[in-house]
Amino acid sequence: MQLSKFSYYSDFVVYPVVVIGLAAVNFSHYAGHGARDWAGACLAGLVLWTLLEYVLHRIALHHMPVFSPMHSLHHGAPLDFIGTPSWVSVTVWLGVIFLPAWWWGSFNIANGLTVGVMLGYWWYGYVHHVIHHHARNTSSAYFNELRAWHMRHHHSPKRGNFGVTTPLWDYVFGTAISARGKVTVSP
Ligand SMILES: [Zn+2]
Ligand SMILES: [Zn+2]
Repeated sequence: MQLSKFSYYSDFVVYPVVVIGLAAVNFSHYAGHGARDWAGACLAGLVLWTLLEYVLHRIALHHMPVFSPMHSLHHGAPLDFIGTPSWVSVTVWLGVIFLPAWWWGSFNIANGLTVGVMLGYWWYGYVHHVIHHHARNTSSAYFNELRAWHMRHHHSPKRGNFGVTTPLWDYVFGTAISARGKVTVSP
């Protein structure tokens, strides 16, 4: 949805605060016990985020009538401040990741998994912001490659390149658009 400038940028501050808060609560409670499990869950959360990023973008944002009009706003005006308010996304992650994982697993695992997903989401927001708002000549090669990849999502007549932070799942599911505009199934 269309956000105010303040709301758009708040993700970049709110997420580090929430992530540090979650990690602090966990480590003060467990005093270092289960740190390896927590780190493993965090890594799993990061990988899970990359899949969520792909699935949410490809299916929810491009095919579900509840969300697709909002995403069309971004495609029509990529420089506008369009996104999800921080309080909404944080509530969603706590509701769909943290609480179920706590219910079925443990607080430690749920905490690590949620931190991983939130870090992934935060990184996605940052990458997507840099792609659209920073100039090519002031970005690193890493961001320039991701920008070229994402621009093919915006401008190619083909539908594809739904991943923003990684092309991994586009290659897995056959939606990667090569530089010449063809949808390819392998790198
Ligand atoms: Zn899109
Ligand atoms: Zn975009």
